[in-house]
Amino acid sequence: MIENIVKSLKQEREQPFCAYIYDMPKLRRHVNKLIESLPSACRLFYAIKANSDETLLKALAPIVHGFEVASLGEIEKVRAVDESIPILFGGPGKTKEEIEGAIDHGVTFLHVESLHELQLVNYIAAQKRTSISILLRVNLRNSVPNAQLKMSGVPSQFGVDEEEVSGAIDLVRCLPNVRLFGFHFHAMSNNLDPAAHVHFIDHCFEKAKIWGKEWDLDLSYINVGGGIGINYQMVEEQFNWDNFILRLEKILEKHSDANWQTIFECGRYIASSCGYYAAEVLDIKQNHGRYFCIIRGGSHHLRLPAAWKQSHPFTIVPIEEWPYPFKRPEVNESTITVAGELCTPNDVLARNVPISRLHVGDILLFSYAGAYGWSISHHDFLTHPHPEHIYLDSEPINEADEKLVESR
Ligand SMILES: *Cc1c(COP(=O)(O)O)cnc(C)c1O
Repeated sequence: MIENIVKSLKQEREQPFCAYIYDMPKLRRHVNKLIESLPSACRLFYAIKANSDETLLKALAPIVHGFEVASLGEIEKVRAVDESIPILFGGPGKTKEEIEGAIDHGVTFLHVESLHELQLVNYIAAQKRTSISILLRVNLRNSVPNAQLKMSGVPSQFGVDEEEVSGAIDLVRCLPNVRLFGFHFHAMSNNLDPAAHVHFIDHCFEKAKIWGKEWDLDLSYINVGGGIGINYQMVEEQFNWDNFILRLEKILEKHSDANWQTIFECGRYIASSCGYYAAEVLDIKQNHGRYFCIIRGGSHHLRLPAAWKQSHPFTIVPIEEWPYPFKRPEVNESTITVAGELCTPNDVLARNVPISRLHVGDILLFSYAGAYGWSISHHDFLTHPHPEHIYLDSEPINEADEKLVESR
Protein backbone atom coordinates (compact mmCIF):
# COMPACT_ATOMS: atom_id res chain seq x y z
CA MET A 1 0.00 0.00 0.00
CA ILE A 2 1.14 3.48 -0.85
CA GLU A 3 0.73 4.59 2.80
CA ASN A 4 3.25 1.99 3.96
CA ILE A 5 5.68 3.00 1.26
CA VAL A 6 5.39 6.62 2.41
CA LYS A 7 6.10 5.53 5.99
CA SER A 8 9.26 3.70 5.04
CA LEU A 9 10.41 6.53 2.77
CA LYS A 10 9.92 8.94 5.67
CA GLN A 11 12.01 6.76 7.97
CA GLU A 12 14.94 6.96 5.58
CA ARG A 13 14.97 10.76 5.63
CA GLU A 14 16.11 13.39 8.12
CA GLN A 15 14.39 16.46 6.69
CA PRO A 16 10.60 16.92 6.82
CA PHE A 17 9.12 14.74 4.11
CA CYS A 18 7.89 16.29 0.88
CA ALA A 19 7.63 14.36 -2.37
CA TYR A 20 5.77 13.66 -5.54
CA ILE A 21 5.36 9.91 -5.76
CA TYR A 22 4.41 8.20 -8.99
CA ASP A 23 2.99 4.69 -9.12
CA MET A 24 4.28 3.67 -12.54
CA PRO A 25 2.63 0.21 -12.75
CA LYS A 26 -0.69 1.88 -11.90
CA LEU A 27 -0.18 4.35 -14.76
CA ARG A 28 0.56 1.57 -17.23
CA ARG A 29 -2.37 -0.57 -16.09
CA HIS A 30 -4.75 2.37 -16.28
CA VAL A 31 -3.75 3.49 -19.77
CA ASN A 32 -3.56 -0.05 -21.13
CA LYS A 33 -7.12 -0.53 -19.95
CA LEU A 34 -8.27 2.66 -21.68
CA ILE A 35 -6.60 1.69 -24.96
CA GLU A 36 -7.94 -1.87 -24.87
CA SER A 37 -11.50 -0.74 -24.24
CA LEU A 38 -11.66 1.94 -26.94
CA PRO A 39 -13.49 1.04 -30.17
CA SER A 40 -11.09 0.14 -32.97
CA ALA A 41 -11.50 3.37 -34.94
CA CYS A 42 -10.36 5.44 -31.96
CA ARG A 43 -6.90 6.73 -31.13
CA LEU A 44 -5.81 7.86 -27.67
CA PHE A 45 -3.16 10.56 -27.48
CA TYR A 46 -1.67 11.93 -24.25
CA ALA A 47 -1.82 15.74 -23.87
CA ILE A 48 1.57 16.20 -22.25
CA LYS A 49 0.89 19.60 -20.71
CA ALA A 50 -0.94 17.74 -17.91
CA ASN A 51 2.46 16.37 -16.87
CA SER A 52 5.45 16.28 -19.19
CA ASP A 53 7.75 14.47 -16.73
CA GLU A 54 10.23 12.42 -18.74
CA THR A 55 9.66 9.20 -16.77
CA LEU A 56 5.92 9.42 -17.45
CA LEU A 57 6.47 10.14 -21.14
CA LYS A 58 8.81 7.15 -21.40
CA ALA A 59 6.25 4.90 -19.72
CA LEU A 60 3.41 6.15 -21.90
CA ALA A 61 5.16 6.21 -25.28
CA PRO A 62 4.83 2.44 -25.91
CA ILE A 63 1.17 2.46 -24.82
CA VAL A 64 -0.59 5.52 -26.27
CA HIS A 65 -1.06 6.22 -29.98
CA GLY A 66 0.82 9.49 -29.72
CA PHE A 67 1.33 12.75 -27.85
CA GLU A 68 -0.46 16.07 -28.12
CA VAL A 69 1.73 19.12 -27.56
CA ALA A 70 1.33 22.89 -27.51
CA SER A 71 4.84 24.28 -27.94
CA LEU A 72 8.19 23.57 -29.56
CA GLY A 73 9.53 22.84 -26.08
CA GLU A 74 6.94 20.07 -25.71
CA ILE A 75 7.78 18.73 -29.18
CA GLU A 76 11.42 18.50 -28.07
CA LYS A 77 10.46 16.73 -24.84
CA VAL A 78 8.54 14.15 -26.83
CA ARG A 79 11.29 13.65 -29.39
CA ALA A 80 13.81 13.20 -26.56
CA VAL A 81 11.96 10.06 -25.48
CA ASP A 82 10.72 8.82 -28.87
CA GLU A 83 12.04 9.72 -32.31
CA SER A 84 9.01 8.66 -34.30
CA ILE A 85 5.86 8.61 -32.16
CA PRO A 86 2.99 10.59 -33.77
CA ILE A 87 2.64 14.16 -32.50
CA LEU A 88 -0.33 16.52 -32.73
CA PHE A 89 0.64 20.16 -32.33
CA GLY A 90 -2.02 22.65 -31.22
CA GLY A 91 -2.35 25.84 -29.25
CA PRO A 92 -2.92 29.48 -30.12
CA GLY A 93 -0.21 31.86 -31.29
CA LYS A 94 2.23 29.47 -32.94
CA THR A 95 5.40 31.25 -34.02
CA LYS A 96 7.28 30.82 -37.29
CA GLU A 97 10.06 29.06 -35.38
CA GLU A 98 7.56 26.65 -33.81
CA ILE A 99 5.93 25.82 -37.13
CA GLU A 100 9.34 25.22 -38.73
CA GLY A 101 10.27 23.07 -35.73
CA ALA A 102 7.05 21.09 -36.11
CA ILE A 103 7.93 20.34 -39.75
CA ASP A 104 11.52 19.40 -38.87
CA HIS A 105 10.39 17.09 -36.06
CA GLY A 106 7.86 15.30 -38.28
CA VAL A 107 4.69 16.36 -36.47
CA THR A 108 1.73 14.37 -37.81
CA PHE A 109 -0.93 17.08 -37.69
CA LEU A 110 -0.87 20.75 -36.88
CA HIS A 111 -4.07 22.00 -35.27
CA VAL A 112 -4.58 25.35 -36.94
CA GLU A 113 -6.29 27.89 -34.71
CA SER A 114 -6.97 30.91 -36.98
CA LEU A 115 -7.10 32.16 -40.56
CA HIS A 116 -3.86 34.07 -40.09
CA GLU A 117 -2.21 30.89 -38.85
CA LEU A 118 -3.42 29.07 -41.98
CA GLN A 119 -1.62 31.65 -44.13
CA LEU A 120 1.52 31.46 -41.99
CA VAL A 121 1.62 27.66 -42.06
CA ASN A 122 1.17 27.61 -45.83
CA TYR A 123 3.89 30.23 -46.29
CA ILE A 124 6.40 28.35 -44.15
CA ALA A 125 5.61 25.04 -45.82
CA ALA A 126 6.06 26.61 -49.26
CA GLN A 127 9.44 28.05 -48.23
CA LYS A 128 10.49 24.61 -47.08
CA ARG A 129 9.09 23.07 -50.29
CA THR A 130 6.82 20.75 -48.39
CA SER A 131 3.19 20.49 -47.40
CA ILE A 132 1.66 20.40 -43.92
CA SER A 133 -1.19 18.16 -42.81
CA ILE A 134 -3.65 19.97 -40.61
CA LEU A 135 -6.82 19.66 -38.61
CA LEU A 136 -8.82 22.87 -38.33
CA ARG A 137 -9.64 23.74 -34.71
CA VAL A 138 -13.22 24.97 -34.41
CA ASN A 139 -14.85 26.78 -31.50
CA LEU A 140 -18.39 25.46 -31.70
CA ARG A 141 -21.37 27.54 -30.67
CA ASN A 142 -22.58 24.77 -28.32
CA SER A 143 -20.61 23.09 -25.59
CA VAL A 144 -20.88 20.82 -22.57
CA PRO A 145 -22.84 22.68 -19.90
CA ASN A 146 -21.32 21.20 -16.73
CA ALA A 147 -17.63 21.06 -17.53
CA GLN A 148 -15.37 23.04 -15.23
CA LEU A 149 -13.46 25.08 -17.82
CA LYS A 150 -14.77 25.88 -21.28
CA MET A 151 -12.68 26.64 -24.33
CA SER A 152 -15.60 26.34 -26.70
CA GLY A 153 -19.25 27.36 -26.87
CA VAL A 154 -18.10 30.64 -25.32
CA PRO A 155 -15.88 33.43 -26.62
CA SER A 156 -12.30 32.21 -26.22
CA GLN A 157 -8.86 32.54 -27.78
CA PHE A 158 -9.11 29.01 -29.19
CA GLY A 159 -9.91 27.86 -32.69
CA VAL A 160 -11.89 29.34 -35.52
CA ASP A 161 -15.42 30.50 -34.73
CA GLU A 162 -17.96 28.02 -36.06
CA GLU A 163 -19.36 30.85 -38.18
CA GLU A 164 -15.96 31.39 -39.76
CA VAL A 165 -15.47 27.77 -40.83
CA SER A 166 -16.67 28.31 -44.39
CA GLY A 167 -14.21 31.20 -44.79
CA ALA A 168 -11.43 29.01 -43.43
CA ILE A 169 -12.26 26.15 -45.82
CA ASP A 170 -12.38 28.57 -48.76
CA LEU A 171 -8.94 29.75 -47.76
CA VAL A 172 -7.52 26.23 -47.33
CA ARG A 173 -8.57 25.44 -50.89
CA CYS A 174 -6.42 28.27 -52.19
CA LEU A 175 -3.39 27.27 -50.15
CA PRO A 176 -1.29 24.72 -52.08
CA ASN A 177 0.95 23.68 -49.19
CA VAL A 178 -1.73 22.90 -46.61
CA ARG A 179 -3.75 19.68 -46.57
CA LEU A 180 -6.90 19.52 -44.46
CA PHE A 181 -7.55 16.07 -42.96
CA GLY A 182 -10.29 16.92 -40.50
CA PHE A 183 -11.46 19.01 -37.58
CA HIS A 184 -10.38 19.47 -34.01
CA PHE A 185 -12.85 20.26 -31.23
CA HIS A 186 -11.19 20.26 -27.79
CA ALA A 187 -13.79 22.20 -25.84
CA MET A 188 -13.75 21.59 -22.12
CA SER A 189 -11.91 20.52 -19.02
CA ASN A 190 -12.84 18.22 -16.17
CA ASN A 191 -16.12 16.87 -17.46
CA LEU A 192 -17.46 14.05 -15.26
CA ASP A 193 -20.58 13.15 -17.22
CA PRO A 194 -20.15 10.36 -19.83
CA ALA A 195 -23.52 11.06 -21.43
CA ALA A 196 -22.67 14.75 -21.91
CA HIS A 197 -19.26 13.81 -23.28
CA VAL A 198 -20.70 11.47 -25.88
CA HIS A 199 -23.40 14.00 -26.72
CA PHE A 200 -20.61 16.48 -27.46
CA ILE A 201 -18.83 13.92 -29.68
CA ASP A 202 -22.08 13.30 -31.54
CA HIS A 203 -22.43 17.03 -32.12
CA CYS A 204 -18.84 17.22 -33.44
CA PHE A 205 -19.59 14.44 -35.92
CA GLU A 206 -22.79 16.16 -37.08
CA LYS A 207 -20.94 19.40 -37.73
CA ALA A 208 -17.95 17.81 -39.44
CA LYS A 209 -20.25 15.77 -41.68
CA ILE A 210 -22.18 18.87 -42.73
CA TRP A 211 -18.98 20.71 -43.62
CA GLY A 212 -17.51 17.66 -45.31
CA LYS A 213 -20.56 17.30 -47.51
CA GLU A 214 -21.02 20.98 -48.25
CA TRP A 215 -17.41 21.40 -49.34
CA ASP A 216 -16.90 17.92 -50.70
CA LEU A 217 -13.92 17.40 -48.40
CA ASP A 218 -11.93 14.22 -48.18
CA LEU A 219 -11.72 13.95 -44.38
CA SER A 220 -10.18 11.13 -42.38
CA TYR A 221 -9.91 12.36 -38.78
CA ILE A 222 -12.04 13.95 -36.15
CA ASN A 223 -10.30 15.07 -32.98
CA VAL A 224 -12.72 15.42 -30.08
CA GLY A 225 -10.06 16.66 -27.65
CA GLY A 226 -9.55 15.78 -24.02
CA GLY A 227 -11.47 17.07 -21.04
CA ILE A 228 -12.46 13.87 -19.27
CA GLY A 229 -12.43 14.80 -15.62
CA ILE A 230 -11.37 13.72 -12.16
CA ASN A 231 -13.80 14.03 -9.29
CA TYR A 232 -11.69 15.76 -6.65
CA GLN A 233 -14.67 16.25 -4.36
CA MET A 234 -15.83 12.63 -4.18
CA VAL A 235 -12.92 10.41 -5.10
CA GLU A 236 -14.99 7.24 -5.00
CA GLU A 237 -17.23 8.56 -7.79
CA GLN A 238 -15.01 8.89 -10.83
CA PHE A 239 -15.92 9.30 -14.50
CA ASN A 240 -17.68 6.11 -15.52
CA TRP A 241 -15.41 4.98 -18.33
CA ASP A 242 -17.28 1.74 -19.08
CA ASN A 243 -20.54 3.60 -19.44
CA PHE A 244 -18.77 6.12 -21.66
CA ILE A 245 -17.49 3.33 -23.93
CA LEU A 246 -20.99 1.81 -24.28
CA ARG A 247 -22.40 5.17 -25.30
CA LEU A 248 -19.45 5.94 -27.56
CA GLU A 249 -19.87 2.67 -29.46
CA LYS A 250 -23.46 3.59 -30.27
CA ILE A 251 -22.56 7.05 -31.52
CA LEU A 252 -19.68 5.75 -33.62
CA GLU A 253 -22.04 3.16 -35.10
CA LYS A 254 -24.47 5.93 -35.97
CA HIS A 255 -21.69 7.80 -37.77
CA SER A 256 -19.96 4.78 -39.28
CA ASP A 257 -20.74 6.10 -42.78
CA ALA A 258 -18.12 8.80 -42.18
CA ASN A 259 -15.35 6.21 -41.79
CA TRP A 260 -13.07 8.54 -39.85
CA GLN A 261 -10.63 7.87 -37.09
CA THR A 262 -11.69 9.47 -33.82
CA ILE A 263 -8.82 11.02 -31.88
CA PHE A 264 -8.90 11.65 -28.14
CA GLU A 265 -6.16 13.75 -26.56
CA CYS A 266 -6.57 13.35 -22.82
CA GLY A 267 -4.26 14.78 -20.19
CA ARG A 268 -5.88 14.82 -16.76
CA TYR A 269 -7.67 11.49 -17.10
CA ILE A 270 -4.46 9.71 -18.12
CA ALA A 271 -1.95 11.13 -15.63
CA SER A 272 -3.89 12.18 -12.57
CA SER A 273 -4.48 8.94 -10.67
CA CYS A 274 -0.90 7.63 -10.74
CA GLY A 275 0.48 10.66 -8.93
CA TYR A 276 0.58 11.46 -5.19
CA TYR A 277 1.88 14.49 -3.38
CA ALA A 278 3.05 13.71 0.15
CA ALA A 279 3.83 16.49 2.60
CA GLU A 280 4.70 16.40 6.29
CA VAL A 281 2.71 18.41 8.82
CA LEU A 282 5.01 21.07 10.34
CA ASP A 283 2.57 22.81 12.64
CA ILE A 284 -1.01 22.72 13.88
CA LYS A 285 -2.70 25.71 15.42
CA GLN A 286 -5.99 27.39 16.12
CA ASN A 287 -6.66 30.81 14.70
CA HIS A 288 -9.94 32.74 15.13
CA GLY A 289 -11.63 29.53 16.16
CA ARG A 290 -10.44 27.43 13.22
CA TYR A 291 -7.79 24.72 13.03
CA PHE A 292 -4.98 25.12 10.53
CA CYS A 293 -2.24 22.68 9.73
CA ILE A 294 0.88 23.86 7.93
CA ILE A 295 2.69 21.44 5.65
CA ARG A 296 6.22 21.29 4.31
CA GLY A 297 5.23 22.24 0.78
CA GLY A 298 2.10 23.88 -0.59
CA SER A 299 0.65 25.48 -3.66
CA HIS A 300 4.12 26.13 -5.12
CA HIS A 301 4.23 22.34 -5.58
CA LEU A 302 0.54 21.60 -6.08
CA ARG A 303 -1.18 24.71 -7.39
CA LEU A 304 -4.32 23.02 -8.69
CA PRO A 305 -6.55 23.38 -5.58
CA ALA A 306 -5.61 27.06 -5.16
CA ALA A 307 -6.10 27.72 -8.88
CA TRP A 308 -9.55 26.15 -8.87
CA LYS A 309 -10.47 27.26 -5.34
CA GLN A 310 -11.26 23.73 -4.29
CA SER A 311 -10.12 21.25 -1.65
CA HIS A 312 -7.74 18.58 -2.87
CA PRO A 313 -8.45 15.06 -1.56
CA PHE A 314 -5.93 13.60 0.91
CA THR A 315 -5.51 10.86 3.48
CA ILE A 316 -3.44 11.00 6.65
CA VAL A 317 -0.39 8.75 7.04
CA PRO A 318 0.18 8.59 10.80
CA ILE A 319 3.82 8.65 11.91
CA GLU A 320 4.61 7.26 15.37
CA GLU A 321 8.02 8.79 15.98
CA TRP A 322 8.28 12.14 17.78
CA PRO A 323 11.85 13.40 18.28
CA TYR A 324 11.31 16.25 20.77
CA PRO A 325 11.11 16.32 24.60
CA PHE A 326 8.02 18.57 24.57
CA LYS A 327 4.37 17.92 23.78
CA ARG A 328 3.43 16.94 20.23
CA PRO A 329 0.66 19.22 18.85
CA GLU A 330 -2.43 17.33 17.70
CA VAL A 331 -6.05 17.83 16.80
CA ASN A 332 -8.88 15.33 17.32
CA GLU A 333 -12.39 15.00 15.88
CA SER A 334 -12.44 18.36 14.22
CA THR A 335 -12.20 20.06 10.85
CA ILE A 336 -8.95 21.41 9.54
CA THR A 337 -7.70 23.73 6.82
CA VAL A 338 -4.46 22.67 5.15
CA ALA A 339 -2.07 25.50 4.32
CA GLY A 340 1.37 25.49 2.76
CA GLU A 341 4.59 27.21 3.81
CA LEU A 342 4.18 30.30 1.60
CA CYS A 343 3.48 33.78 2.92
CA THR A 344 0.16 34.21 1.13
CA PRO A 345 -3.36 33.38 2.30
CA ASN A 346 -3.93 31.76 -1.13
CA ASP A 347 -1.59 28.94 -0.19
CA VAL A 348 -4.38 26.61 0.88
CA LEU A 349 -4.78 23.04 -0.38
CA ALA A 350 -7.94 21.99 1.45
CA ARG A 351 -10.49 23.79 3.59
CA ASN A 352 -12.52 22.64 6.60
CA VAL A 353 -11.90 18.96 6.09
CA PRO A 354 -13.25 16.65 8.83
CA ILE A 355 -10.51 14.54 10.42
CA SER A 356 -10.43 12.17 13.35
CA ARG A 357 -6.81 12.65 14.40
CA LEU A 358 -3.79 14.55 13.17
CA HIS A 359 -0.37 15.20 14.73
CA VAL A 360 2.53 17.38 13.79
CA GLY A 361 4.91 15.02 11.99
CA ASP A 362 2.16 13.02 10.27
CA ILE A 363 2.12 13.05 6.49
CA LEU A 364 -0.73 14.21 4.29
CA LEU A 365 -0.97 12.11 1.16
CA PHE A 366 -2.78 13.97 -1.62
CA SER A 367 -4.14 11.66 -4.30
CA TYR A 368 -4.94 12.47 -7.95
CA ALA A 369 -1.90 14.75 -8.07
CA GLY A 370 -0.37 13.36 -11.27
CA ALA A 371 -1.93 15.93 -13.61
CA TYR A 372 -1.71 19.72 -13.46
CA GLY A 373 0.19 19.45 -10.18
CA TRP A 374 3.92 20.09 -10.27
CA SER A 375 3.77 21.15 -13.93
CA ILE A 376 1.52 24.16 -13.35
CA SER A 377 3.05 25.32 -10.06
CA HIS A 378 5.31 28.31 -9.34
CA HIS A 379 8.16 26.24 -7.91
CA ASP A 380 10.54 28.99 -6.91
CA PHE A 381 8.23 31.48 -5.25
CA LEU A 382 9.83 31.94 -1.77
CA THR A 383 12.75 29.64 -2.69
CA HIS A 384 11.84 26.68 -0.51
CA PRO A 385 13.41 23.36 -1.53
CA HIS A 386 11.65 21.44 -4.29
CA PRO A 387 9.91 18.17 -3.41
CA GLU A 388 11.58 14.88 -4.25
CA HIS A 389 10.26 13.05 -7.30
CA ILE A 390 9.98 9.36 -6.56
CA TYR A 391 8.97 6.72 -9.09
CA LEU A 392 7.67 3.47 -7.70
CA ASP A 393 8.34 0.80 -10.23
CA SER A 394 7.77 -2.64 -8.86
CA GLU A 395 5.04 -4.88 -10.21
CA PRO A 396 2.73 -5.32 -8.37
CA ILE A 397 2.89 -2.73 -5.62
CA ASN A 398 2.25 -4.28 -2.23
CA GLU A 399 3.85 -4.40 1.17
CA ALA A 400 6.39 -7.03 0.19
CA ASP A 401 7.70 -4.73 -2.51
CA GLU A 402 8.26 -1.73 -0.32
CA LYS A 403 12.00 -1.83 -0.81
CA LEU A 404 11.78 -1.75 -4.58
CA VAL A 405 11.61 1.98 -4.74
CA GLU A 406 13.44 3.96 -7.34
CA SER A 407 14.26 7.54 -6.61
CA ARG A 408 15.63 10.40 -8.67
C1 LIG B 1 -5.22 20.88 -22.26
C2 LIG B 1 -5.62 20.31 -23.55
C3 LIG B 1 -5.94 18.95 -23.64
C4 LIG B 1 -6.00 18.03 -22.44
O1 LIG B 1 -7.04 18.39 -21.62
P1 LIG B 1 -7.44 17.47 -20.35
O2 LIG B 1 -8.54 18.24 -19.73
O3 LIG B 1 -6.22 17.39 -19.50
O4 LIG B 1 -7.85 16.16 -20.89
C5 LIG B 1 -6.24 18.44 -24.88
N1 LIG B 1 -6.25 19.22 -25.99
C6 LIG B 1 -5.95 20.54 -25.93
C7 LIG B 1 -5.97 21.33 -27.17
C8 LIG B 1 -5.63 21.12 -24.72
O5 LIG B 1 -5.36 22.42 -24.67
